[in-house]
Amino acid sequence: MSGIDILPPLREVIAAHGLSARKSLGQNFLLDLNLTAKIARSAGDLTGCDVLEIGPGPGGLTRGLLAEGARRVVAVEKDARCLPALAEIAAAYPGRLEVLNADALDLDWAAHLQPPVKIVANLPYNVGTELLVRWLTPPVWPPLWDSLTLMFQREVADRIVARPGGKAYGRLAVLAQWRCDARVVMGLPPEAFTPPPKVSSAVVHLTALPQPRYPADPDVLQRVVAKAFNQRRKMLRAALKGLVPDIEARIVAAGLTPTDRAEQVPIEGFCALARQIAAG
Ligand code: SAM
Repeated sequence: MSGIDILPPLREVIAAHGLSARKSLGQNFLLDLNLTAKIARSAGDLTGCDVLEIGPGPGGLTRGLLAEGARRVVAVEKDARCLPALAEIAAAYPGRLEVLNADALDLDWAAHLQPPVKIVANLPYNVGTELLVRWLTPPVWPPLWDSLTLMFQREVADRIVARPGGKAYGRLAVLAQWRCDARVVMGLPPEAFTPPPKVSSAVVHLTALPQPRYPADPDVLQRVVAKAFNQRRKMLRAALKGLVPDIEARIVAAGLTPTDRAEQVPIEGFCALARQIAAG
């Protein structure tokens, strides 16, 4: 199934329900249904999939996901003002849209979904990175979801797909590319949103690998990477000081050079170091 639905234009929906955008909730809405359909398509074939959407707002992307054939959409929205607009969409797609009025950071979303699951969202900027890190670091892999298709500020998108050696390479690149293939699939100028944010945005598509690229304990890897990049201009031996008593020996045992900086260390190197540290 494909195509734009027969519900009213989003500008009318916003006016009818008084949905003035609130900055505190990161509300920059997408009102062009051709664009929301394109974002939905960038998530791949949705037929037969449950889709988790965080922050549907007035429902532009939600409508795209349903029109593109998602089996069910579970949409988690914190702002109760959006619920009547979302109820109209649910009525147009009987049995296929479940709306949860909740904070995505507090919700046990997995309980509401059946595999195969894709996560697709124009994320609120204030919680986007936190949600991404949670989705990337469950204790067990592969996760419940097959792919993430997420809108971020362009600068954050660049950090997710960055390779070693540059300024953008850091915690997000290591955590994302350790367990996923990650690529930027679409860039959007500020004018694509209402109201326009100050910066450009981009959609990142992450596909979960069947298993992580290199073995490592996710908690230990997270701690190592967070500390290494917290003082990214320092050499590894200084940046990681205090993590474990004999850190310099562990760095060497992992095959790394203590005088290197974190941004020079590939994902494989951080995983080797995490294994050395976990070995006790
Ligand atoms: N998906 C809509 C679109 O593309 O037009 C709206 C996107 S807007 C950038 C972010 C949405 O996330 C808003 O509707 C906002 O109310 C909602 N939101 C903000 N914080 C949230 C949270 N912690 N949990 C769930 N929804 C949240």
